[in-house]
Amino acid sequence: MDAPLDRDVERVLLSEEQIRAGLERLAQQLLTDYSSDEPCLVACLRGSLVFTADLIRRMPIRLRVDFLHASSYGNATVSKGTVDLRLLPDPDEVVGRRVILVDDILDSGRTLAAARRTLLDLGASDVKTCVFLEKRVPRSVEARADYKCFEIGDEFVIGYGLDYAGRYRNLPYLAALRRDLVQRAR
Ligand code: 5GP
Ligand code: MG
Repeated sequence: MDAPLDRDVERVLLSEEQIRAGLERLAQQLLTDYSSDEPCLVACLRGSLVFTADLIRRMPIRLRVDFLHASSYGNATVSKGTVDLRLLPDPDEVVGRRVILVDDILDSGRTLAAARRTLLDLGASDVKTCVFLEKRVPRSVEARADYKCFEIGDEFVIGYGLDYAGRYRNLPYLAALRRDLVQRAR
């Protein structure tokens, strides 16, 4: 580790090699379940960018890709607990189709619950959720990961698409951010 970005890392949680192995496992499951359909992967921007790009290149079947943009408000705002969905997929891509809703991480579950509801309302025939990470936390919202690469404990992670204050998405591995940087990353 010696690139400038690496210096902000407290410790590596999943190496590039571990991530590759997880992707292979997950892609095999999806190929078993979807090879006779033409599913649409709907990726939640921006966090699932890297995961989606790596996953679809391990799925040599007919499939479509579309996007939605989700942002959730923190506890500090009036609209706490709500999820703002912008940039919805083209209905032509999802109507009557089996959708694989892809996100970087399942935490409280609010993002996936809201996105899943929206995709069903748009006319998807079936919506399954697929995440790179599932956090081991109690959840009040009814949301589950039908497919997941890894489970992690309850800590804030960066890299492999996940950001802190907009940074670190381009780290090729998953990491914990140095504690002294948590407040002053601007
Ligand atoms: P949920 O709606 O499940 O609470 O939150 C999902 C979203 O919160 C994720 O798509 C992600 O953007 C963000 N998030 C939750 N936990 C983490 C984390 O540990 N690190 C980062 N970078 N983002 C997280
Ligand atoms: Mg996100």
